[in-house]
Amino acid sequence: MVLPNVTDAPFEVLMTDTLIPDREAAVAELGGLTLRTNLFIDGGFRPARDGRRFVTENPATGQSITDVAEGGAADVDAAVAAARSAADRGVWARMDPGARKRILLAWADSIDAHARELGLIETIDAGKPITDTVGLDMPETAACIRWHAEAIDKLYGQVAPSPEGTVATITREPVGVVGAVVPWNYPAQMAAWKLGPALATGNSVVIKPASTTSLSLLRLAELGAEAGIPDGVLNVVTGPGDTVGAAIGRHPDIDCVAFTGSTEVGRRFLAWSAESNLKRVLLELGGKSPQIVFGDVTEMAHVAAQAAVAIFWNMGENCSAGSRLIVHRSRKDALLEALREELASWPVGDPLDPSTKIGALISKPHLDRVLAYVQVGREEGARLVTGGERILEETGGYFVGPTIFDGVRNDMRIAREEIFGPVLSVIEFDTEAEAVAIANDTAYGLAASIYTDDLNVAHRVARDLRAGTVAVNAYAEGDMTTPFGGYKQSGFGGHDKSVHAHDQYTEMKTTWIVLRGSSR
Ligand code: NDP
Repeated sequence: MVLPNVTDAPFEVLMTDTLIPDREAAVAELGGLTLRTNLFIDGGFRPARDGRRFVTENPATGQSITDVAEGGAADVDAAVAAARSAADRGVWARMDPGARKRILLAWADSIDAHARELGLIETIDAGKPITDTVGLDMPETAACIRWHAEAIDKLYGQVAPSPEGTVATITREPVGVVGAVVPWNYPAQMAAWKLGPALATGNSVVIKPASTTSLSLLRLAELGAEAGIPDGVLNVVTGPGDTVGAAIGRHPDIDCVAFTGSTEVGRRFLAWSAESNLKRVLLELGGKSPQIVFGDVTEMAHVAAQAAVAIFWNMGENCSAGSRLIVHRSRKDALLEALREELASWPVGDPLDPSTKIGALISKPHLDRVLAYVQVGREEGARLVTGGERILEETGGYFVGPTIFDGVRNDMRIAREEIFGPVLSVIEFDTEAEAVAIANDTAYGLAASIYTDDLNVAHRVARDLRAGTVAVNAYAEGDMTTPFGGYKQSGFGGHDKSVHAHDQYTEMKTTWIVLRGSSR
């Protein structure tokens, strides 16, 4: 997710490591933080209508951080009413594009200025390494808002080649009220992927973070209001998926819902749309992405470094994780050896320690799920090369080290189902056709990587792969200029990032004008 493109050093591209605190400073700063824990509706914080609250915990300690307002259907109604009122009054959609741009740019600047605070919040709430949250996630969050803001006054409509005596324009208009339901793996960034284009195109938004990771989005919304986003345009309703998320999915006055998460919940949004108002549904739903390593690669250390980023970065909690390493039989042993060497630079541990590269899994249920898959892999006959156990249990946190299975067949469950943890399946092949067949033999189609020194192989295989993003000699998703979305059960309905993201939050309008009289 959001890895800046190419190069040998993907972590260094956007890293702003001057902001990253050492552990002592991080702990001291956490002590001084004031967390926002109420719903953000119509420009202000408020408790849930029925006063309910739920605990959010630190996955690295298992301890409670604070409690958060537990919204319900009535709170979603209030947020949608505020969003609809803002839309009807045109306070955002009809604001001069330049003015809307300036406000979003000010918000992006403010996110940059608060990157350290936001990153600390994200680290304790999501278990993600501080080096990633402060150094990458928050700069990327700001960059996403900024990129879409800058596009606001640079995108034009069209004039159609209509017959003499007519003028026909094709323009884009905001869809209206957008509902967004986002996951816990990149809480701020995934919110920004929805909010950037949805707000840039003039919509009002009601957004729900995952209940495990509510805190950063509440602070982001407050910074947005301070930057000038009008009341009612950006609303955050915290609470569980099966109440708040379902209320968004079923709501008759939401025009479009953007969802990132599991395929199972994505299906529900489609059903709710059909049962309610046929709202537009945009789905981004995970994957089981292949990384194909051909026999001709010369830089095996580079391949291993990229392959490790693909599956171990963010604890493998990544929809585009390269969880299937499909390697030519002749190079498998060399690749496993290179991976073993690479893993020496992937320390697992306290997410507040800047040297940590693998933090904690999001929750105890998720830890159990990942470990259950390890057991499934063993029972299916795959060979566990490394990892596969809970470690650092004395911390109370949910840690699993890099886990590699060798001898995996593509029909095994560990090769077919999304594990969403640091678990890599190594599968061998003999021919190019076999590699492509294995790579495409999946219900998903989000991302893929190809490693080869042969340009012909690279182009041929990139065309053959059924995936929304194909990277050559890297694990990469492109950057903000390129669209991100999946084939098959990885989702459909639109794309995040790039100007294509603007399309998904706008209606296309034809205006047909018949001219009276004639100058001839
Ligand atoms: P979910 O799909 O359940 O969660 C994603 C979002 O959907 C969260 O905001 C969640 O809210 C919400 N949600 C959950 N249940 C419902 C519901 N019934 N109606 C409406 N909204 C709902 O993912 P999980 O957290 O359960 O993770 C399970 C698996 O899903 C992972 O192991 C992974 O395979 C996949 N996943 C994929 C992601 C991706 O980036 N594509 C991201 C996250 C998960 P809440 O958490 O508050 O209940």
